[in-house]
Amino acid sequence: MLQKWNKLNLAAQIMIFVVIGFIVGVIAGPRMAVFSSIGSLFIKAVQMMVIVIVGPAIISGFCSLDNPKQIGKTGVKIIAIFAIMYVIAAALAIIIVNVLKPGVGMEVVLPEGYTYTPNQQSLTDMLINIVPKNPVAAFADGNLLQILFVVILFAGCAVALKDRVPNLIKWMDEWNEISMKMLTTIMKTAPYFAGLLMAVSIGVNGPAIIGKLLVYVAIIYGGQLIIAILNVLLIGIGGMNMKEYLKRVFEPAMIAFTTRSSLASLPANIECVVDLGVPRGIGVFGTTLGNVVDMTGTSFFQAVSVVFIAQAYGLEMSIGQQIVVALTAALLCVSLVGVPGAGMATIGILLLGAGLPGEGVGLILAVDAIVDMPRTMNNVFGDASATILATKIDGLLDPNSKLLKK
Ligand code: ASP
Repeated sequence: MLQKWNKLNLAAQIMIFVVIGFIVGVIAGPRMAVFSSIGSLFIKAVQMMVIVIVGPAIISGFCSLDNPKQIGKTGVKIIAIFAIMYVIAAALAIIIVNVLKPGVGMEVVLPEGYTYTPNQQSLTDMLINIVPKNPVAAFADGNLLQILFVVILFAGCAVALKDRVPNLIKWMDEWNEISMKMLTTIMKTAPYFAGLLMAVSIGVNGPAIIGKLLVYVAIIYGGQLIIAILNVLLIGIGGMNMKEYLKRVFEPAMIAFTTRSSLASLPANIECVVDLGVPRGIGVFGTTLGNVVDMTGTSFFQAVSVVFIAQAYGLEMSIGQQIVVALTAALLCVSLVGVPGAGMATIGILLLGAGLPGEGVGLILAVDAIVDMPRTMNNVFGDASATILATKIDGLLDPNSKLLKK
């Protein structure tokens, strides 16, 4: 029995425990809350790996490329795909929420004493802050954009001096191997923690709460499903095997779904794209950059939620206003950190910007954990799809990649 279980791939193991977790959550209900700190152990462990992996992986990845300048070219394509997907997510949100009108006629009950904590960082601040005053602090704080800046500069110089610094490059390769071993060791526990996190989410925020906001939750899930399908289609558009992609991306996607943290899913996502034939340098760069700037799942959720809240209050929003909200949501997402609930924290800014009552956040707060799951999944999914597609367009995908199987 145990042998059979060990032979099962990680994604299948995760799937089984997620289903078990769902059932346990429904049965046990809010009592599951006592286990939430145990679940956070796993989230902390995988988040810890981001810092251990990203630096050496980018440096050794850049140095192993025949043509390191290629990263810039492929990088621009990756960013262009992120931008296109943001626009599609915004359009989808506006269409869905106007056709289905989930908030119209709702009886609004605000929870007492709720205060939200908006993220005040503007886009200009964010751009200026990309350069850290102190790189050690950037690593200590886990500031991914700053880390990327330092590491890419370092990696670029290491490439330029490749022949003079062979020891350091070898050292980075070895570091990389050890950190991958650490990651696979941690990931062995993923099925159990994914199940536990699922049980806690469903138990605490479960069916009773979802019931009240059923249409809203269903719309978010439906829209996220469309975005997920589009992410898979990107692979098809590139002439690659979508089934093989789905099989492999399932693991990081499920980690994202259950932990509700795209940051925690980054190490698994890096491994996924590298496994599928993306050169390590490009794979680490694309998924890490995407982790910071690309959150289409969240931008979709925010655009739908703001219009939903306006509808619930009986306030009219013109399509023009809605477009501004959807695009501002995309811009705000560029500065978000992939942790649970981050997308909800910034909704207040969008509401106030649109002249709507900030307290509207309270309307959807109760189901945030439930709608955070699919949006986090798409945030991670999108990074993998864009990185793989851009790599394929540039002809850099490993010729033996499973994605090229007919
Ligand atoms: N939980 C999301 C993520 O980690 C962010 C959000 O709350 O939308 O990507």
